[in-house]
Amino acid sequence: MGFPKPWPTDWPEPDSSGKSPDDVREGLDYSFPDSSSDDSPDLIPEFRRHFCSVTWAVNHLCNLRCTHCYDVVDYRRSDLSTEQAVAVIDRLSDAGVTFIAFSGGEAFLRKDLFRLMAHCKDLGMQFGARSNATQITNVVARKLKELSISVVGVSFDGATPGTHDAVRGVGAFTAALSGLKALIAEGIRAQMEVVLSKQNAHEALEFIKLGKSVGVSEVNFSAITPQGRGASRNNDLLDHKTWLQLTETLKTASASVAIPVTPNCALLGPCFANVEPHVTCDGWVTPCYLSPTKLFPLLETPAKLIREYLRRDRMKYQEVCGRRAWTQDWETVPQSNLVNLTVTRSGVYGS
Ligand code: SF4
Repeated sequence: MGFPKPWPTDWPEPDSSGKSPDDVREGLDYSFPDSSSDDSPDLIPEFRRHFCSVTWAVNHLCNLRCTHCYDVVDYRRSDLSTEQAVAVIDRLSDAGVTFIAFSGGEAFLRKDLFRLMAHCKDLGMQFGARSNATQITNVVARKLKELSISVVGVSFDGATPGTHDAVRGVGAFTAALSGLKALIAEGIRAQMEVVLSKQNAHEALEFIKLGKSVGVSEVNFSAITPQGRGASRNNDLLDHKTWLQLTETLKTASASVAIPVTPNCALLGPCFANVEPHVTCDGWVTPCYLSPTKLFPLLETPAKLIREYLRRDRMKYQEVCGRRAWTQDWETVPQSNLVNLTVTRSGVYGS
């Protein structure tokens, strides 16, 4: 899944400068609000240059069992209590966060989700949700409208029932479409979140057609990563050639459709690890939602240190999702980098 936001991202130029991902990254300024530098390149929209938004897995329960789910760990987890969850929102607000994307598990299975959203609203924070949409009825959509939710990202792994349900289970496509339509009927900004893999790459343009036909505000494309259950789907990870074709096809398509068609950073563009960090269901901060690396426990960390910790280590966790496996052309990587490559290919970034 992607990272739904109320502001669409641009489609960056992947290779216009001929620079490698490392060169491009070195040239960027991931400045934080208290940085003395204010000359970040246009490539990075304002809202992505600063630590001001997080994803938060408010629970680990889910009613589906997607074959690529990144939120799967080999130890027992406990969700935060309502009191702790409210404290998380307070702490994030104190740290300067202005946007929370609620995710899970399946966030809409959490009984106090509306209460948490209402607390964000009371504090003047924006919030969104990322969901499989199977729990989103007309009543739920109406409540979200009342709460002034900024955006809901609905996950689609296929533009047809056969492809989607092969990943998410029988009936998931119909239920997701129903939830998506309920959101749109309420006038809520709803976007389609697509995780591309070799299993669904052939439907790339069909996702756009589907999204446009139901009236989504944006179609955002990510890529399957070797995290959680995705680690056992090596054969479905994008290879460099497929990635190149897909990014070119989608970028071209994006120029001719009326709705934004955008890339998630796992597919293309700068890495926002530690700039858009993630909070786990048990209250740990990780570099991004696609990294299981626990940085520090949120509720035990003073608000003023959160920003500092994230800034201090942000370069250490670049591309921890493992995207170099498809964004980099391994045939052209210098031999001198091979030791490093072995590490990155086995997903041990930042350790
Ligand atoms: S590691 Fe970086 S590029 Fe990968 S999903 Fe996270 S923020 Fe995006």
